[in-house]
Amino acid sequence: MNNLFTLSGKTALITGSTRGLGFAYAAGLAEAGARIILNGTRQAHMDKALSQLQAKGVEARGFLFDVAQEEQIEQVFNQLDAEGVHVDIVINNAGIQFRKPMLELALSDWQRVIDTNLTSAFLVGRAAARRMVARHRGGKIINIGSLTSEAARATVAPYTAAKGGIKLLTKSMAAEWAQYNIQTNGIGPGYILTDMNEALVNDQAFNAWVCSSNPSGRWGRPEELIGTAIYLASDASAYVNGQMIYVDGGWLATL
Ligand code: NDP
Repeated sequence: MNNLFTLSGKTALITGSTRGLGFAYAAGLAEAGARIILNGTRQAHMDKALSQLQAKGVEARGFLFDVAQEEQIEQVFNQLDAEGVHVDIVINNAGIQFRKPMLELALSDWQRVIDTNLTSAFLVGRAAARRMVARHRGGKIINIGSLTSEAARATVAPYTAAKGGIKLLTKSMAAEWAQYNIQTNGIGPGYILTDMNEALVNDQAFNAWVCSSNPSGRWGRPEELIGTAIYLASDASAYVNGQMIYVDGGWLATL
């Protein structure tokens, strides 16, 4: 691999990485040389993910915490500080989605999605950036948006609001933290085959719509996101800041 893309000597924390896209980012960054810190909320998922990485010889560990809970995030970063572990790369990936018309949406539904998909990126990003600034070594923050960072769909209003927020939070982080040699960018995945979309893939009409509305004619695969994550985590993107890169098979191009 070209040295510009190497992550050797770097430590990457990927939130929501026990499954799905987060796990794909973790496996990809590990292949580029990074040490990996996984995160999720369920022990069984964590055990499986860690053993898959460790079987490949990856230096990986994991922390169970809820990305919406400030205290839990601070505890983990304080523990890493105490061990002398520095996080060089953060991927704010953890997210949830459920479908409900806005007229039926409770405030608690709204709050849970906003907290998990948007406030989490502020909390984890801030905790990491404070330490990157103190070390004077810079760093990389990658916030995970979505097609809904650009366009709304019915029945996912809080998700869309959160992902739209991710786009401007990414720009805000870039505007404030570029001076500390921290580059903050985002990835907006298209429709990708993960657990989150299991019900949609099995819904014949939705599946047909995804395939016919996308110029690539198909869903994306988690491993197709890895190259963009490595690029944004590496020196190859040293002067790229505040950008969203959409990895969607061309879907947005047709809007
Ligand atoms: P999955 O549902 O497949 O996986 C979600 C991951 O997040 C799991 O590892 C889960 O861990 C973890 N997680 C969930 N809630 C929390 C929480 N509160 N705190 C910490 N970890 C949590 O999702 P995807 O891989 O499909 O999606 C990942 C990201 O990509 C999300 O932000 C999503 O919005 C975004 N995205 C996905 C698209 C897709 O088509 N799949 C399209 C566009 C964006 P555990 O099981 O241990 O709780």
